[in-house]
Amino acid sequence: MGIELNLPLWFHLLIHLTVALVGGYLLGKYNNKLKLGVIAGFLGGFLIDLDHVIEYFISYGLKFNLNKFLNGYQFLESDKVYLIFHAYELVILFLLLAYLFRKKANIKIFIIIFTISGFLHLVSDSIINNYPPKNYTYTYRAMNDFSAEKLLNRNQYQKNINLKNELGL
Ligand SMILES: [Zn+2]
Repeated sequence: MGIELNLPLWFHLLIHLTVALVGGYLLGKYNNKLKLGVIAGFLGGFLIDLDHVIEYFISYGLKFNLNKFLNGYQFLESDKVYLIFHAYELVILFLLLAYLFRKKANIKIFIIIFTISGFLHLVSDSIINNYPPKNYTYTYRAMNDFSAEKLLNRNQYQKNINLKNELGL
């Protein structure tokens, strides 16, 4: 059983942003494509979290509440974890895509940096959130009906229940 870090969300996002930009910068520099590297790193390593927004609208429809969103209430409300951009299967898929574009240097490098950045994001998420890597696969989530109760460990799910009671959800 790992340690629960319980970082505030802004710090969690700052870690993602830093890893995405530094990773993109270094990989871009290494390939002599600095700008392309930074953009690919940012998209793959940071904007991947936009699926949280999609999940919010699935739960709440179009009534947006920033506080609810930032606190991740969408996951409490639905009790489901879809996270459509968070999956190691996508890493494999994008590497295949990079192979298909192997003769187009810019596109290939862009896809590879984008993919590495996304991969680093998933690894960071596993560490920060203390979820096993298998939680970040479609296969495992689908096998568990995308159910938060089945996917989270006892302590983590209990925290959700407590928070739900507190909020009257
Ligand atoms: Zn994430």
